[in-house]
Amino acid sequence: MNTQMPLRCGELLSTQLYIDGCWCNSEGGGSLPVVNPSTEEFIAEVQAGDARDVERAVQAAARAFSGWKNTTGAARAAYLRAIARGVEARRESLAALQSLNNGKPLAEAEIDIGDVVATFDYYAELAGQLDETGEAEVVIPSADHRAVIRREPAGVAALIVPWNFPMVTTAWKLAPALASGCTVVLKPSEVTPLPELQLAAIVAEVGLPPGVFNVVTGTGADVGAPLTAHPRVAKVSFTGSTAVGEQVMKTAAETIKGVSLELGGKSSIVVFADADLDLAVDLVAGGAFFNAGQMCSATSRVLVERTIAEALIARLAERATQMVVGDPFSPGVQMGPLTSRAQFERVQRFIERGKADGARLLVGGEVPAGPGYFVKPTIFVDVPTDSAVWREEIFGPVLCVRSFDAEEDAIEAANDTDFGLVATVVTRDAVRGKRVADALAAGVVWINTPQLIFPQTSWGGYKQSSIGRELGPFGLAAFQEIKQVLTVS
Ligand code: NDP
Repeated sequence: MNTQMPLRCGELLSTQLYIDGCWCNSEGGGSLPVVNPSTEEFIAEVQAGDARDVERAVQAAARAFSGWKNTTGAARAAYLRAIARGVEARRESLAALQSLNNGKPLAEAEIDIGDVVATFDYYAELAGQLDETGEAEVVIPSADHRAVIRREPAGVAALIVPWNFPMVTTAWKLAPALASGCTVVLKPSEVTPLPELQLAAIVAEVGLPPGVFNVVTGTGADVGAPLTAHPRVAKVSFTGSTAVGEQVMKTAAETIKGVSLELGGKSSIVVFADADLDLAVDLVAGGAFFNAGQMCSATSRVLVERTIAEALIARLAERATQMVVGDPFSPGVQMGPLTSRAQFERVQRFIERGKADGARLLVGGEVPAGPGYFVKPTIFVDVPTDSAVWREEIFGPVLCVRSFDAEEDAIEAANDTDFGLVATVVTRDAVRGKRVADALAAGVVWINTPQLIFPQTSWGGYKQSSIGRELGPFGLAAFQEIKQVLTVS
């Protein structure tokens, strides 16, 4: 096949599986098509792995584990830094490949690449510290004994990732897994395997020992399921839909594996009457339309204090209709297409359900003519709280607005969901901002800021949004076991 990619993506380094330090074909010999969501054109095909490839990859990772576990944190840090520098060196072509395969505007793809670099650099720092902090003596009430707590890598880790932020979701798992001393098998989404394979090529380049890092592309059924069920896999770290997350947890339970789940959301942005209106419009638009709304952290519910509701809604309608939707490579484009036909159709079904449920369509909803999975930024107002668009994760550029009168009503409405990933509060009153943040059942709360995420912090949510946390020291701990060693002193 032609691995010369169009636009500024450079050469596609590989479309094969990466197992035990080698690029190879799948046992079944099948392939999966990859599509450009802006044009609906076929752009590449990748190997369709299956359970036999999973078996080879897991066995390779299991063989490599004891050697990798026994490297120093400093040695692992050097590999992670080399990956960060490799990504940096290909910054432009990686961003272009992200836009080509996922559809996000180039400027957003560039943010993703910066995030990937920062994540590998941060976990390099933590890996280096492990030589000092991986073992710590504990004070116990016995003069006759000495207790030490050690942190050890969990074993072979399965990393299963979706298509909305390819490379970023992978970096958030891969960097801490390698830092901890785990060996890994990565399963990218079948929708966006190209950026992941390019990242894999960079990882391969840094010369990790064979088997430490493996990639098997393929479908959830053929690769994800056998990976989750494999008895030699000690830990599954999954990001994706709640439905598949539930399935992953059930399957992992059969062999009592550790699981980390990053699932859906239905998050709110609460705008108080004292808010800076310009800022509020920016934060609402960013929270709903960035990445075409395909974010687990989308703040797709706006709760606005009634006295400013009319003014905010008018400004939001203006912003949404003026947004430039189109080819992610065109300068000035603010929103690209949805990433797949399935997602495009799903979002349209939600828009129809919103109308049928009695929500008032203020702007958007229509699909521009021509190829590509484009949907205009869409706003519903007067949204019934029992409607699907208010309660379910849409994962598209669809914003729902309701008004509130009292602070406690806003908190109750924001918390009235099965999810609890994030929330945003917009107010000039710092005391109120903190009070509301304290009352929200969400894993991340932004007060008067866009959705900035620093690798040093934490990522994950309450209720059905997550199990465990990524990023920060928590992301590393997710790949570690804790061992107590008690000796006679
Ligand atoms: P999925 O949950 O299906 O996909 C996530 C990953 O899991 C993919 O790599 C997928 O493989 C894999 N997978 C699928 N089935 C299994 C299985 N049985 N065992 C193990 N792994 C499996 O998400 P979708 O891509 O289908 O998106 C559907 C919806 O999920 C979206 O509309 C959105 O609401 C939500 N979503 C949420 C995300 C988040 O970050 N919270 C991210 C992505 C989606 P493959 O795709 O290759 O078949």
